[in-house]
Amino acid sequence: MEIADFSQKSFLTELTENEIIIRDTIRDFAEKNIRPFIMDYDESQKFPMEIIKQLGELGFLGVLIPEEFGGAGLGCQEFCLVIEELAKVDPSIALSVAAHNGLGTNHIYLFGNDLQRKKYLPYLTSGKKIAAWGLTESSSGSDAAGLKSVAEKKDGYYLLNGGKTFTTHGTVGEIAVVMAITDKSKGKKGISAFILEKGMEGFIAGKKENKLGMRASDTTQLVFENCRVPEENLIGNKGEGYEQAMKVLAGGRISIAALSVGLAQGCLDASVKYGNQRMQFEKKLNQFQAIQFKLADMAVNIEAARMLTYRAANLKDNGRPIKKEAASAKLFASEIAEKAASEAVQIHGGYGFIKEFPVEKFYRDVKLCTIGEGTSEIQRIVIAKELFKSIPD
Ligand SMILES: Cc1cc2nc3c(=O)[nH]c(=O)nc-3n(C[C@H](O)[C@H](O)[C@H](O)COP(=O)(O)OP(=O)(O)OC[C@H]3O[C@@H](n4cnc5c(N)ncnc54)[C@H](O)[C@@H]3O)c2cc1C
Repeated sequence: MEIADFSQKSFLTELTENEIIIRDTIRDFAEKNIRPFIMDYDESQKFPMEIIKQLGELGFLGVLIPEEFGGAGLGCQEFCLVIEELAKVDPSIALSVAAHNGLGTNHIYLFGNDLQRKKYLPYLTSGKKIAAWGLTESSSGSDAAGLKSVAEKKDGYYLLNGGKTFTTHGTVGEIAVVMAITDKSKGKKGISAFILEKGMEGFIAGKKENKLGMRASDTTQLVFENCRVPEENLIGNKGEGYEQAMKVLAGGRISIAALSVGLAQGCLDASVKYGNQRMQFEKKLNQFQAIQFKLADMAVNIEAARMLTYRAANLKDNGRPIKKEAASAKLFASEIAEKAASEAVQIHGGYGFIKEFPVEKFYRDVKLCTIGEGTSEIQRIVIAKELFKSIPD
């Protein structure tokens, strides 16, 4: 029996010819170049630099950046297609590609000046250098505005002290955007964003985390010890860093939604395949209604999550507000992905607990989706705040 390809069959609109080419290119790449090695990367926790470089050569590391800076000049919908396809095969590589494109690189593109864009973006869009983005600190995660890193203005430079926690690409990244306090008295409006380069004195990659899942994606502490950051590396104006970061995160959340959709789709595909092969009581698992119901629920949830995700992406591409829509897509997609991964392991029985089957890894990787770029609780807070804004007192 041919395995049905459930993915991207029922979009709000049909895929364009260009989108089909993008999807098929990344799908092909992931099947041939990533799938055979995912467990090696997972077990060794090795960042797959060679894969990431190849993705750069194919244009997938500057998806959202205009061609004049070496990017592909595409929109958020195409970006979601790329992340979804990667996540179906390896969510940890999808996470790295999402973070590189959507956080560090995008922050410089959206808020950097022309000099900064020209200086840094061509390296990032080509994959010659990898981007990191540091907002979270050991004592400030959900409460991002509670960060403590300080950038003190001196003659022609800022003296940066403090550190960041859980920075994707903290070790392998060569260009980092980090947020730090420039005026404590102003609260959120006293936070600024800076571009840091590997090799700057006092800019140190700290401990690399040993993680439950997403193990191929590098997650590291950053340490700033009297790090001298040139004045011209301030992004935008002093005090704009927090607001910039929140805008970057809103877009980033759509990519985590796409990652969740892809991961859930990977779980469904693997489960349909397994259920068609595994015999119990002289029947294929897929012939049991209890299994069919699980698969049906997964398929419906994935469709709903995909629609929320591409709707948010479409709104973003059209310059419309996305705060609530991005949070909704991220919340729903990550939670149905978690359920899908759990059901996929259940459908596989004991084999789902074994590393030879892809659902074991999906089950570990998926937990990041309800945590990274704002936990589910924070998404609900964002959605509720937006909801109250639309209701008159
Ligand atoms: C693999 C990985 C990669 C990451 N990459 C990056 C990166 O590249 N850059 C970066 O800046 N950060 C990154 N992060 C950090 C991530 O964004 C944070 O972990 C996340 O925002 C949660 O913060 P926290 O871990 O400090 O949890 P906390 O904020 O301490 O939250 C703990 C729990 O309390 C809940 N909670 C907190 N406040 C409230 C509230 N007001 N109401 C209800 N519940 C609440 C949370 O939802 C959560 O369940 C990464 C994290 C991981 C694990």
